[in-house]
Amino acid sequence: MSQDEWRTHRLELDDQTLREWDAVVLASGEDGIVLDRSAFYPGGGGQPPDHGVLLWGGVQTRIVDARKGDDLFLIPAEGDPVPPPGTAVRGAVEDDRRTALMRTHSGLHVLCGVVFRDYGSLVTGGNMEPGTARMDFNLPEVPPGFKEAVEAACNAEIAVGRRIDVRVLPRDEAFEIPDIIRTATNLVPAEVKDVRIVDIVGLDQQADGGTHVASTAQIGRIEVVKVENKGKGFRRLRIRIAD
Ligand SMILES: [Zn+2]
Repeated sequence: MSQDEWRTHRLELDDQTLREWDAVVLASGEDGIVLDRSAFYPGGGGQPPDHGVLLWGGVQTRIVDARKGDDLFLIPAEGDPVPPPGTAVRGAVEDDRRTALMRTHSGLHVLCGVVFRDYGSLVTGGNMEPGTARMDFNLPEVPPGFKEAVEAACNAEIAVGRRIDVRVLPRDEAFEIPDIIRTATNLVPAEVKDVRIVDIVGLDQQADGGTHVASTAQIGRIEVVKVENKGKGFRRLRIRIAD
């Protein structure tokens, strides 16, 4: 079943700064907890799920994971009380973790944009934790000074404070953007009618369901920690986000 049919309204897709909200439990049990409205990012596109709490009836339920099935299920910490269906809860996303993930995720977009612009390389994979990430590129040769040059170019893009915009376009319109065809044609399932575009204005556009900061200036500093050769034309760049 597609995410379009989930009963949960995804608040974080509209407002990436939202950290607290009111919700009602639609279902709860072995599978997890389903809310009518949630700002918990459930994971995807290399970005891990949010952590946080649900507050209700004087107790708290820690949320430590999410599962994407017929519905969006929030996974409670083992042993925590679980709110029954119909309960009004206050949801809160753990800010430190989410903000670090937003900075890291946005940093990966800058890296992706810079490596494509300067070396013509396409991304073949990636993953992130709060503050660290890796991204894989199709890059046959690693020119001398590559690591330092990429790091400097990324930090130059951060220094100019490029806007990071989010907009939702009908599928056909979205795939007329050349950048989107480059990165996502085969990644967006056919049944998805509206495509969310994350645009680092002037640098990089992607079809993307993750959370990002509003300006490259909020990323901090990108350190390219390592460039690994993983075989024929396959390079893995490891980055760290510093303050
Ligand atoms: Zn993204």
